[in-house]
Amino acid sequence: MSTKRATLAELEPQANFVPRHIGPNAAETAEMLKVVGAASLEGFIDKVIPKKIRAAKPLDLPRGKAERTTLSYLRQMASRNEVFTSMIGMGYYGTVTPKVILRNILENPGWYTAYTPYQAEVSQGRLEALLNYQQMIIDFTGLELASASLLDEGTAAAEAMAMAKRVVKTSANTFFVDRDTHPQTIGVIETRAEAFGFDIVIGDPAKDLKPAEVFGALLSYPGSSGEIRDYRAIIDKLHGAGALAIMATDLLALALLTSPGELGADIAVGSAQRFGVPMGYGGPHAAFFATRDEYKRSMPGRIIGVSVDSHGAPALRMAMQTREQHIRREKATSNICTAQVLLAVIASMFAVYNGPTGIRKTAERTHRLAAIFAEAVKGFGYEVTTKAFFDTVTINAPGRAQAILARAKEKRINLRFVDADHVGISFDQSTRRQELERLLTVFKTDALERVDIDKLDAKVADTIPVALARKSPYLTHPVFEMYHSETEMLRYLRRLQAKDVALDRSMIPLGSCTMKLNATSEMIPVTWREFAMMHPFAPLEQAQGYQQLFEELESMLAEITGFDTISLQPNAGSQGEYAGLLAIRGYHHARGDTHRDVCLIPVSAHGTNPASAVMAGMKVVVVACDEKGNVDVADLEAKAKQHAANLAALMVTYPSTHGVFEESIKDICAIIHANGGQVYLDGANLNAQVGLVRPAELGADVCHMNLHKTFCIPHGGGGPGMGPIGVKAHLAPYLPGHPVVHGVNPAAGRDQSQGQVSSAPWGSASILPISWTYIAMMGGEGLKEATMMAILNANYVAKRLAPHFPIVYSGPGGVVAHECIIDLRWLKERTGLAVEDVAKRLVDYGFHAPTMSFPVVDTLMIEPTESEGKRELDRFCDAMIEIRREIAEVEEGKADRTDNVLKNSPHTHQLLLADWTRPYSKEKAFFPLSYINADKYWPPVGRVDNVYGDRNLVCTCPPMEAYQEAAE
Ligand SMILES: *Cc1c(COP(=O)(O)O)cnc(C)c1O
Repeated sequence: MSTKRATLAELEPQANFVPRHIGPNAAETAEMLKVVGAASLEGFIDKVIPKKIRAAKPLDLPRGKAERTTLSYLRQMASRNEVFTSMIGMGYYGTVTPKVILRNILENPGWYTAYTPYQAEVSQGRLEALLNYQQMIIDFTGLELASASLLDEGTAAAEAMAMAKRVVKTSANTFFVDRDTHPQTIGVIETRAEAFGFDIVIGDPAKDLKPAEVFGALLSYPGSSGEIRDYRAIIDKLHGAGALAIMATDLLALALLTSPGELGADIAVGSAQRFGVPMGYGGPHAAFFATRDEYKRSMPGRIIGVSVDSHGAPALRMAMQTREQHIRREKATSNICTAQVLLAVIASMFAVYNGPTGIRKTAERTHRLAAIFAEAVKGFGYEVTTKAFFDTVTINAPGRAQAILARAKEKRINLRFVDADHVGISFDQSTRRQELERLLTVFKTDALERVDIDKLDAKVADTIPVALARKSPYLTHPVFEMYHSETEMLRYLRRLQAKDVALDRSMIPLGSCTMKLNATSEMIPVTWREFAMMHPFAPLEQAQGYQQLFEELESMLAEITGFDTISLQPNAGSQGEYAGLLAIRGYHHARGDTHRDVCLIPVSAHGTNPASAVMAGMKVVVVACDEKGNVDVADLEAKAKQHAANLAALMVTYPSTHGVFEESIKDICAIIHANGGQVYLDGANLNAQVGLVRPAELGADVCHMNLHKTFCIPHGGGGPGMGPIGVKAHLAPYLPGHPVVHGVNPAAGRDQSQGQVSSAPWGSASILPISWTYIAMMGGEGLKEATMMAILNANYVAKRLAPHFPIVYSGPGGVVAHECIIDLRWLKERTGLAVEDVAKRLVDYGFHAPTMSFPVVDTLMIEPTESEGKRELDRFCDAMIEIRREIAEVEEGKADRTDNVLKNSPHTHQLLLADWTRPYSKEKAFFPLSYINADKYWPPVGRVDNVYGDRNLVCTCPPMEAYQEAAE
């Protein structure tokens, strides 16, 4: 026993969050340092990161605070948000998240810590939920095919415009937008059109649309004002001229309205927010996108399809990935990578839980409220300008709009300010009778003495036009009827969750993706009422807590990156790239350099880079890399000089996509600047830099940071994310603005802002508390330590695996940055095995595979992050080393070249029932290492057949019998 008594300070419970976040403890760190041959962590980092690129000074951030203290501070901040009843509408509505979904999905790490379902065999649960989402969208929109979520309604509409241009045969260059469209959607479309060089006409479709002059038109159904119009004749005319008809629509309205598909529309877009996803001051929410089968190869976003597994049973997977940016690069259908999977899952489960009858009832009730209200205010002498409406009415009150809004505010209700003469009011699932009563007194003080709501209800007819009343059924698949009791729902969610590998089960060693801890304390605030229930267009004085959060987070991120100004609007890394390139474009244009449109991109770049460059109106010129994965500086210089007259930008990933801190980065930036270009640094890999290197000091002008990688927002199975950008002062005027909420970009003068890249002013605001909490609890020192440990962990894994597998690219001195790449290019020739066989064999060991074949074909990229302790790293390395032995057996002829543990992986429990005919033991198949005995993950399906799935594309829920037959 020690004789020295601990002081009170030393005994403070949980005073320090840092050791909770960082996996390895002091003893483990010492052991790992020994393995990598270093005396100290600091000394080791000096070896990895060249001196000349190290940060000029340490992070000037407060010391890390305890979890409790941090949450109390945040509670106070949240309390500065005043949650009024928001009846503003405009694409954001109150909704009631079923508690069973709130707790078991939104607040459940089994769902929110999963990765994008690239590895289908360990993702069947979320793939099924997403297939349900697609089915739901197909049903409501009446179209043949839906993708599994885009980022928001505005970007979905912009993607629809871009797709229309791709598929039409007309040479028209104009896109028409219904003027009765949400202004933020119009804003996003205008930004996108400007960069693509399309002309936009905004007007009344009945009067101003000239079908022969457009390649497509966006029609809002219902309109932003609430008005429902019959667009059949207009759609026919568009088709007659060879143009596409796109409808921006609303899922709940479609429960009562004839579907866009039945009206003849080619594409339908909108937001699934009001299906159980809180408004969250603008996001995250899932957008939907549906179209005709003939356009499937041109459709943006991920599509879930049904295929078969190695036993011939149905199995789900992401279909037609060859359309996406990681394959097609500058020719991709869109730059969307991370989307909104978790929110699509929630919306689909909302439909599963409520079923067609429940949803129809909600729609009818919402409509009744609006109809009763409209009738009542007419009785008070107001003119209701919307004639046919679902949930939203616009009232004409000449000169009195401000006064009405002020009276509503006194009663804690927010209405929509349309203009000085018009007010908009939207009803939704959360509106109660008492809110209707309160609202009526806004329009007439003694309303409740004058109006009998029940009498009005009996008297007032529905205002949905008969010709547009919905007759076709929806949600007819059994999945939407089977889980209406909470018991059934709970078990359904549990069953799906159990099929998947997420961070709550084991390490997910994805390179370029930073799957680190998403601490519970960071997640707790997301569902606080003060953050979750805010409408994005609520008056700023009600959102002071949010404004404080943005200011504090922006200044933290500015300190970390070294940039002057941060924009929080981009809601994914891809959107950050796009916004950053637009800022560069705006800067060149402001200087009269409108011809600067060449974007240099190294061959090793992430696929979103070239796809974003094209969206920003730039031409991609590819720069070579050397055999170490570094940018070939000679080639870069040659190309920069060759294109000097038109050079707009370089997009460069740092540390390099191959996980190396290139010494030449500063020279690279100087070369670009000398030739008139700007430097875009892809900072998705900021996890290797925080506290040690500042992108701005390297010479970059702009950089995005993926908060869903480095700053602890969980991946959600493929989103949500946030991709804010930092810029140097000269680019600040060109950051995104917003047409509804002013003051988003104070640096911009009139006409300087490059418009809007997301629907919401601050992107997916409600997940920003996660990153704020992380930074506050780690503090400057803690963040730096995390970065150093991430680098040590990667080097430890590289050292342990190096005797067994060649490591592809190492920096000088044989070290890597925060990730390492294992070379398997020899595998095929020597054994007939593929990288995929290694990836799938890892499933039998209970692991999600590392990133496959990026950035180098036939390699695996591993990023362990700082959150994994040595025990978990060893478990993973042991699995890899054992797999290497299994490979050797094939190599040496001890195992069959086709019938072996790798080729047959993953091994499912169904095999236990069949006669065992494999040339190896069951123990070897299922329990190759002893640790697996204690906690075996059973993959629900065998190897999923990708080719079959793309050849026989099915993107709807298969009939229940398909599962039944498979089970027999
Ligand atoms: C993840 C990543 C991106 C794309 O970010 P999303 O949020 O998925 O759009 C871009 N570049 C790199 C290097 C990345 O790792």
